[in-house]
Amino acid sequence: MKKILLSGVKPTGRVHLGNYFGAMKQFLDLQDKFESYIFIADYHAMTTVQNREELSQGIIDVALDYLAIGLDPKKVCLFKQSDIPEVHELTWIFNCITTVPYLMRAHAFKDAEAKNKEINVGIFDYPILMASDILMQDADVVPVGQDQKQHVEYARDTAQKFNRIFGKGEDVFKMPEPFILKEVETIPGTDGKKMSKSNGNVIPLFATSEEIKKAVMSIPTDSKGVDEPKNPSESLIFAIHKLLLEGPKLADLRTKYEKGGLGYKQAKELLIADLEAFIAPLRAKRDALARDLSAVKEILKKGGEKARSRASAKMNVVREKVGVEVK
Ligand code: AMP
Repeated sequence: MKKILLSGVKPTGRVHLGNYFGAMKQFLDLQDKFESYIFIADYHAMTTVQNREELSQGIIDVALDYLAIGLDPKKVCLFKQSDIPEVHELTWIFNCITTVPYLMRAHAFKDAEAKNKEINVGIFDYPILMASDILMQDADVVPVGQDQKQHVEYARDTAQKFNRIFGKGEDVFKMPEPFILKEVETIPGTDGKKMSKSNGNVIPLFATSEEIKKAVMSIPTDSKGVDEPKNPSESLIFAIHKLLLEGPKLADLRTKYEKGGLGYKQAKELLIADLEAFIAPLRAKRDALARDLSAVKEILKKGGEKARSRASAKMNVVREKVGVEVK
């Protein structure tokens, strides 16, 4: 029997290279090895997106993104979080065994607090909703970027706590493992900080040629001249470029930096050409898929039914364990 993989992406604007290389590519690479459940985290997005058109458009966009990168709906169960209402029932149960100080230690909450942001209850409870998504489907592995590692730890703690309080010797919930590839755990954006919509430093995964050029041209460089040797591991242009290359092509580029003769302008042009070659077919595939949205909606509906039937069976066990199922 294959192990179970689960992960999701929020529909909060366009996906970017950080999402792709940090998480989505792993969904793709692992779709044959695992029984995969990949979802669109629409209720998670509601902590920030509170606009009907934006949210529903975002959902379709992420579905198109998943399909365009090559997720095969025959192999992967693709669904919307909101099609599994049982997740909120489980969230409530988990909320009741979770303490406030424990949630106050979450990085996302602490960051929001440090920035004096208005924090809604959804943001505070975000890790528990995510624990429910993960534990509901009995996930063994959760491919995520480094920024989400703590959330998988919250899911593990919650599983353990539930099993201890209600399990009566039985492990109702499995212990999920984060799956994080060291070399892509945090993809830098065009300013060197973590690539993220909120940092305004993204290269969209389905960027137009113009957007690619503009983003790459904005990458800061030092003042080394064309002929000076450059250390590739100190160059942000190289850090992004290396995501697209492997083997001899990557070694070639590294040598070009090291031996001198490669100016930053030319390094950027090489990056733009390789980004264009990587993104153009993805863009074309996404455009083709967007011409038949009813097929995309049907895939989500089928996926939702499958994920929900698993959730429903799981909740029967959970209700019985917590004592609301009176026999
Ligand atoms: P989100 O857009 O927050 O739903 O993130 C979707 C996935 O992309 C999560 O697994 C994140 O950990 C991952 N991710 C987002 N930004 C980056 C980044 N800059 N580097 C690596 N992974 C990232």
